[in-house]
Amino acid sequence: MADEINQNGEKTEPASVTLPTNFIKDIINEDLKSGKNDSRVHTRFPPEPNGYLHIGHAKSICLNFGLAAEYGGLCNLRFDDTNPSKEDVEYVDSIIEDIRWLGFDWEDRLFYASDYFGKLYEYAVTLIKKGVAYVDDLTGDQIREHRGTLTEPGKESPYRNRSIEENLDLFERMRSGEFPDGSRTLRAKVDMASPNFNMRDPVMYRILHASHHRTGDKWCIYPMYDWAHGQSDSIEGITHSICTLEFEAHRPLYDWFVDQLGIHHPQQIEFARLNLTYTVMSKRKLLQLVQEHIVSGWDDPRMPTISGLRRRGYTPEAIRDFAERIGVAKRDSMVDVALLEHCLREDLNKHAVRVMGVLRPLRLIIDNYPEGKIEELVAINNPEDASMGTRKLPFSRELYIEQDDFHEIAPKKWFRLAPGAEVRLKHAFIIKCVDVVKDPKSGEVIELHCTYDPQTRSGESADGRKVKGTLHWVSAPHAIEAEVRLYDSLFTKEIPDADPDFRDNINPHSLEIIKGAKFEPGLRDAKPGNRYQFLRHGYFIADIVDSKPGAPIFNRTVGLRDTWAKIEKK
Ligand code: ATP
Ligand code: MG
Repeated sequence: MADEINQNGEKTEPASVTLPTNFIKDIINEDLKSGKNDSRVHTRFPPEPNGYLHIGHAKSICLNFGLAAEYGGLCNLRFDDTNPSKEDVEYVDSIIEDIRWLGFDWEDRLFYASDYFGKLYEYAVTLIKKGVAYVDDLTGDQIREHRGTLTEPGKESPYRNRSIEENLDLFERMRSGEFPDGSRTLRAKVDMASPNFNMRDPVMYRILHASHHRTGDKWCIYPMYDWAHGQSDSIEGITHSICTLEFEAHRPLYDWFVDQLGIHHPQQIEFARLNLTYTVMSKRKLLQLVQEHIVSGWDDPRMPTISGLRRRGYTPEAIRDFAERIGVAKRDSMVDVALLEHCLREDLNKHAVRVMGVLRPLRLIIDNYPEGKIEELVAINNPEDASMGTRKLPFSRELYIEQDDFHEIAPKKWFRLAPGAEVRLKHAFIIKCVDVVKDPKSGEVIELHCTYDPQTRSGESADGRKVKGTLHWVSAPHAIEAEVRLYDSLFTKEIPDADPDFRDNINPHSLEIIKGAKFEPGLRDAKPGNRYQFLRHGYFIADIVDSKPGAPIFNRTVGLRDTWAKIEKK
């Protein structure tokens, strides 16, 4: 591909990130062709700091930052912090951490709508002076009563035609704190008969004597989201204001504001929000899960929040890959959570070290293995990536295998262990089960006795004997113990929201804690955040909050079985 020459005559590198073609890119391409906005592309991600980010936000983040990168443009991070009663610095901090973790950089362009409170106030005065904004003395309830219905126009407020002087005076006094909360508002004078409710004289300012996490007590009037959002985009010189579909009906109002003010006019483009099966995505509901202690916090590994997914063991690469694959569309749809897990497995498969762990141990003694003898066997770290090397595994007379890997009465096609049966121990030898010890009271199998064939050491196929089953194991005297947290879907229904109360669909088995699982000794010093594939069990991560070197705790990130691959084949 030939280098391109930009307007200044400099050579520029062609963009390296490529999202699949979509209707948003079509619009941007048209704008670039026509030279609109001096051919700049400037997007932003505008979260409200009233909760943690979730996987739906990740879609928007990847889209906004991705487009900016692809077109050699810029993407801002701006907090739309216009609602002091629901916002908190905890949310601001978590949002910053999450976007960084996803791999995106806003450089020095971190902004807050609250930075613009002064400017927005000036803009409001401009509109009052133009005669298109007025102070209303109606209460919130009265405003609602006046709003009209789908079939009937709204009623004009008796205060709608105040003089400009009176409006200026009252608005100034609203600002200086003279009036109590809720006693007055500033409204845009648009059209009470508009078929679009957003145009029926929307409220621009309300009185709220509340401390703001950034501006403190400087303000006792706060801009409504609809008044702040579009102007904030305009102030930042945003060219393409990308947002979700529910804002489509707000666009005429945003356009009306910037046109009345005669300021830079960003173009709003709406796309369908991400919905995932077996997941609730609304911040209100996620907050409910946290506040009612249904989960351990915003970062509970069962939460669809970025911090929950991170703790669960998701990688930023997997999430970005997912965002690319789902693309963007104009119509709402439901994405199968199996696709997200598929992206995760694909990434982990490339990078995770394969190790052995026995979740429910059963003691196994090799009768013909000399007591006290220890052999070091060589194990491959990742068959997908030879550069990840090998490690040594101790082998001894006493081992643990998985309880499930033994059946006293073998079912048909059982290739694992049973009395008289032979299996291979992964990276080790072929063994044969010769005796079963049971608890005399319960009848439960508590110990197996086996013999091994020293000629069958892995990689040294002295005799070509083949067995069908391969089991994972750990050496009992060398094994370390760890807690394992097996996570499953938080909801039992594909669309948890479909019922009146989504909490009725909570999966009571979404977390199973196993204490005393046994692992190969190298895992003793697992660092929080280390990822592994436990052979035959799935992908796991040493918990980034509770796990400590010397006392590891492993979260199951995802199982090995890929249901998406099956769905795709159909
Ligand atoms: P929620 O409805 O979950 O409370 P929100 O839309 O109020 O979310 P914001 O903080 O306003 O949350 O979201 C910031 C940006 O992320 C917005 O541009 C919004 O459109 C986008 N966004 C929110 N949820 C989704 C989603 N499920 N899919 C895609 N984008 C989303
Ligand atoms: Mg919002």
